[in-house]
Amino acid sequence: MSSGTPKFDPERDGEWRSRLSPIQYYVTREGGTERPMTGALNMEDRGGDYFCICCGSLLFTSEMKFHSGCGWPAFHTEHPDAGIRRLEDTTHGMVRVEVRCSGCDAHLGHVFEDGPMQFGGERYCINSASLDFVPEAEE
Ligand code: FE
Repeated sequence: MSSGTPKFDPERDGEWRSRLSPIQYYVTREGGTERPMTGALNMEDRGGDYFCICCGSLLFTSEMKFHSGCGWPAFHTEHPDAGIRRLEDTTHGMVRVEVRCSGCDAHLGHVFEDGPMQFGGERYCINSASLDFVPEAEE
């Protein structure tokens, strides 16, 4: 079996099934992809932090986000404490690098090599449905 389907966690699956929306569950626990331009965080520009929707691990901050035009939230860097896992994904006739939360194995999206060079040239293409955005407190 190729990558793309996160490990089933019997201890936490019940909580996720009850708490996550259908699209959040489909993306994170079944390795799905939200349709482009539909995610709630694609155009999010406020300052704040992005956490895993399943386990709450800190994954990205707003300083790492940029507008790629690809239709999903894009980040050039992950948070230094995130430790996001990378797996080869050969589904859909492509060879891609899938990224998953190290805390709970949630599928997040993929990472590509066409990001901004001044930040290392990577583009984390992440489903909005896998993220919990917490905006900074208003001044
Ligand atoms: Fe997680």
